[in-house]
Order: sequence, then C-alpha cells, then structure tokens
Amino acid sequence: MIKVLDSFVADKIAAGEVIERPVSAVKELVENSIDAGAGSIIVEIRKGGKSYIRVTDDGCGISFDEAETAFLRHATSKISGITDLDNIVSLGFRGEALASISAVSRLTMVTRRAEDMSGVKLVLHGGRVVSKERTGCNTGTTVIVEDLFYNTPARRKFMKTDAREASSIIELIQQYAVCYSGIRFMMINNGMTLFSTNGDGDTHAVLSLLYPSLARNGLLPVSNEHVKGYVSDPGSTMSTRKGQLFFVNGRLVSSAVIEKGLEDGYQGRIFSGFPAAVLFIEAEPCDIDVNIHPGKQEIRFLKQDDVKAGIAEAVSNAVMTGAGVPKGFVKNIESASEKQLNVGVQQKEETEQTSIREFLKGLENSSSYGERDIRGDRDEYAAAETAEVSDVTEHTAVAEEPEFSYAPVSSPAKAVPEPVQTPAPFDFDDLTYKGYIFNTYIIMQGNDEVYIFDQHAAHERVFYEKFMRGYNNSAHSPQPVLTAFTINVSNDVYSMSGEWLGDLIRMGYDMEDFGDCTFIVRGIPPYMSLSEAEGFARGYAEALGETGGVNRIVVDKLITRSCKSAVKAHDVLSEQEITDLMSELAKCDNPYSCPHGRPTFIRISSYDIERSFRRK
Ligand code: ADP
Ligand code: MG
Repeated sequence: MIKVLDSFVADKIAAGEVIERPVSAVKELVENSIDAGAGSIIVEIRKGGKSYIRVTDDGCGISFDEAETAFLRHATSKISGITDLDNIVSLGFRGEALASISAVSRLTMVTRRAEDMSGVKLVLHGGRVVSKERTGCNTGTTVIVEDLFYNTPARRKFMKTDAREASSIIELIQQYAVCYSGIRFMMINNGMTLFSTNGDGDTHAVLSLLYPSLARNGLLPVSNEHVKGYVSDPGSTMSTRKGQLFFVNGRLVSSAVIEKGLEDGYQGRIFSGFPAAVLFIEAEPCDIDVNIHPGKQEIRFLKQDDVKAGIAEAVSNAVMTGAGVPKGFVKNIESASEKQLNVGVQQKEETEQTSIREFLKGLENSSSYGERDIRGDRDEYAAAETAEVSDVTEHTAVAEEPEFSYAPVSSPAKAVPEPVQTPAPFDFDDLTYKGYIFNTYIIMQGNDEVYIFDQHAAHERVFYEKFMRGYNNSAHSPQPVLTAFTINVSNDVYSMSGEWLGDLIRMGYDMEDFGDCTFIVRGIPPYMSLSEAEGFARGYAEALGETGGVNRIVVDKLITRSCKSAVKAHDVLSEQEITDLMSELAKCDNPYSCPHGRPTFIRISSYDIERSFRRK
C-alpha cells in the first residue's frame, strides 16, 4: 500500500539530508547568524555537539509572531520566488535548517529584535512546540540544540567519537572565522574557550591566530579583481589539501575547478604536495549554482574555464615574485601546520587535546589578541561560564548573559578581506654575482637577500623551455655534426618510430632509421652541444620505452625527463658560462623551478642571516 508519510516521519527523513552530523547543525546555525547580520557569534559545544550545541549571535533576531514560522519547512525570509534562486546572496535559502534540526533534537531558541521590548523563548522536542513564552534577553538569537538524533537511533550510530565530531566543528568555525574576519567568533568546547577572534576585519591576523604555522612561513598576498587572499610559496606545501580554504561569495566551498586554477597558478613549481591557500572569490550570483548540494558545500560555476583562468592568473601574479622564491633553511610548514589544520581527521581522543594546546599557544602568542579588548573578552568568558550551567533551558541562563560590550559592527560584516598588495615581479637585473660553491651552486646577491641557484635545475629549465618552444614552433634547421653517431633503441620503441621520429626532427635533429633498432644522427639542434644532444635523444628514446607511446600530452613529460639526461652533473662552469646561464634563465617563462618542480633557486634574507648570528 502506498501511503503519504505523515509529516513527522517525512521531516525526519528530510532532516537526515541536511543534518548528517553535529557539524552540519552547527554550520546551518552559524550561517543563519551570519545571514542575520551578526557582529559576534559564540559557538559552544559539549561532547562533540552530540549532547549540546549553542550558537549565540547579536544579529537581527526574530519577532514573537514569527518565531514558530521559522521552524516550518521551506520557511525562509531570504527568497520568495523562483527567480531569486538565480541570485542568492545569503548563505541560507532553503528554509530547511531549523525545521530539520528541530525534528531530530530538543531545541531551544531565545531571540529578540532590537525594536522589541521583550524576546521569545521557544522550545521544541522532535519538531513539536513544547512551550513558547515571552522572556527578557539580549538582542539577537541563541539556539541551543540538545540530544541531537535522540529520536533517530540509526543516525546516532553513524556519529564518530566525541573528539572527532568536536574537531570537525572546531575546524569549521576556524574556517568561518577566517572568512568572516569582520565578525567576532568565539569557540567553546566542553566549557573551555579555544579561541576568540576580535572581528576587526584583519584576515591575516585571524590566520596567524588560528593557523600560526601557515602564517609564520609567510603567505603571499593574492589580489586580483575577483580573487583575493593568500597562498603559500611553492616550497611550503602540505601533504593534503587541508590547508586550502576556498570561499565563493562568502560561502565555504570545495571545488575541483578552484583547485585546478590554484595548481595552474603555480606553473609547475610544486615539487610535491599541495600549496596552502585561502582564496576569496567573488562571482556574480547568477554565474554560480549553489543549489546542487543539500549541505551547500559544492557549487557549480557556469563559466568554469574563466574561473579557473582567473584564479590561475591571480595566484601566479602572487607566486612569480621575489617573495615566491622558496626560503632556504626554513623548515617545511608541513609538520606544524598539518597538526593544526588536520584537527578534523586524525587519530583518537588525543587529537583534541593536542589541538587545544596548540590553539591556546596561538592565543597567548598573538599580539592582536593580547592588547585589544581585553575587557570585552573577559565579559564574554563570564558569559560563556554563565551558559555553562547544564540545564540551560530551565535557567534561561542565556537571558542572563551580559550585554556584549564591544562596539557594534557598523555595516553587516562581509566576507571581503582587507585589501592586500601583490609584490612586484622578480627582477634578475637586480642581481650581482657573488660566487660559486661546491661546483654546483651559484651565489647571487639582491637588495636585501642572497639567492642560491642550483646550476642543474637552472640548466634543465632553460633546456626545457627551448625544447618546448622547438616542439611547438616551426622546425629548426639542424646543425651538422662532424662525426655522425647512432642511437640504439628497444624493439618496441623502434617499431613505433613513426610516432616520434618526426618530433625529434622538428626539434632540430637530422636523424634517420639505420635499421636494426638503430638511428643515425647527422645533425643536432643548433641550441645544444653534441653531448647534450646525444643525452637528450637517448633519454627521449628510453622514456618512450617506458611510457609506451607518444602523443601531445606525454610529449611534455618526455621532454621534461630527457632534459635531465641532457644536463650533465658535476660540470664546472666558468664565470662566463654562469653569466650566460643566468641570462638564459632570466628569459624563461618560469625561471623559478626546473621542469620537475624543484626550485631553481632559493633565497636567504639578510634578516635570516642576522637572526642566525643572534643580531636580531
Ligand atoms: P534559511 O536560512 O534557509 O532561510 P532556516 O531554517 O535556516 O532557513 O531559517 C529559517 C528562517 O528563520 C530564516 O530565513 C530567518 O528568517 C530566520 N532565522 C533563523 N536563524 C536566525 C537567526 N540566528 N537570526 C535571525 N533570524 C533567523
Ligand atoms: Mg539557514
């Protein structure tokens, strides 16, 4: 028999889609607070949010009459018609969150609009209103969610340990705090304040507070018209994407398009791992579709290629600069920041402990936290403690919280970071030659920095670009060699010579089939020495054997690998050769890394040197 589900069952099913875990409830509540124009948001959880979640804001509040309406499915103040769906500027728009959360928990909402004399306290159990009364309270809204999934045992089983659930929530709030640096965020876990931001709009300060190791290694500012934020230098990568935060119109998203754009921006300079990046992307609301995922974490760009190219350009402007040259003798950011950013994923219960310690250390060290608004913070701690009373619903403890003492944010906080300036591009003309060490490294001095070039990496880069140009552009006329030489290849490579011989000829080889798996070379590309040409051709044939064929896509890889064979190790360069190499490198499209992604040079600032001598 087909039956229409009664609304309570239907609600619980629908709730499961939006609210999977405690973190999804927190996300929805925090987004509501942001949409309500809050200048301050306090998030408190206990037992990973399973037993208790509280989100308190100082936003616009809800009137007595509308308090219940907010809990109806598809009740929203944010859109009214289908055309609005193409122009979503708020974080919420489905009108489902409060209905969903209340269906699977015991929920208390205390809220007051500034213009109302008194507020309202509404209690719902499993979606049914249990009580509604007028109450005195601060302007704004507090939502307390207790015993999440108490009436859906199956869902409850899918929750992870308290520590894991807590970590996901903490991570989420960190991310929102970075994105909305104009809003004060405070995170309390099991009665302990983990961090609190000051809401002054300084994104970099929030990053230093919450992701200290990221910030310490220096983040390169990205500043294009539609893409702003920070990225790490190519040498400071992490082994996961945990250090990548993307916000599109203030919405935290995961997006393969953005990831690709970011990667493209580094132009092959990432040797291993993933760069860290915090990117704020502005898109016309009509150019994105946010309505493709119930949790709204994914969005679709209607002009994917434009977005990717725009991000790549913005990132490469930031990275292809002096500041983007990897620092020498600085530890990779991996170890420290990984712990910070990974709070959501790792290990057992310990994780939480470690992360708390890290956070507190960050708090102590941060000057932005130390001086400003100490009074305000104290008041908040007091507030936090008041709300610690476990049966808040009975005490109306929320209503007893002192008024927030910090200055109200004048305009609604927007997810746009402070303007940052992209440093000037790197200029080889500023360098002077200072020496040559270990028959491998070239020392150059800039204004305030010393650069150490790896001659092999540099050489490979120069070659690579020449070959790629040779391959892509018109044919080179070969330079004849006095004594022709032969190259032996394996059977399979020999049998497919039709596919690749043409490429080598186009690069400038005069080369033909000599029978019996052998080719004879009578001329070489004019831009190579005999030994380089020989090394390259042999390397090419070997690489072909390994890749089992050739097409436009693998040609790039083939050239990359064969360059290595062309560049001989332990070549002692004369000063003239060094000068030539430098000027060749300067002409490259990407002088910063070898084709394999290793840096061609690193930098050490005079400051780093002075510090090492304890002068600073
Ligand atoms: P949505 O956010 O998609 O509109 P919700 O179920 O999350 O749907 O919220 C329903 C409505 O309740 C919102 O449109 C808003 O008008 C109101 N609301 C929810 N949370 C708050 C809050 N913290 N402050 C003010 N109004 C709120
Ligand atoms: Mg909402």
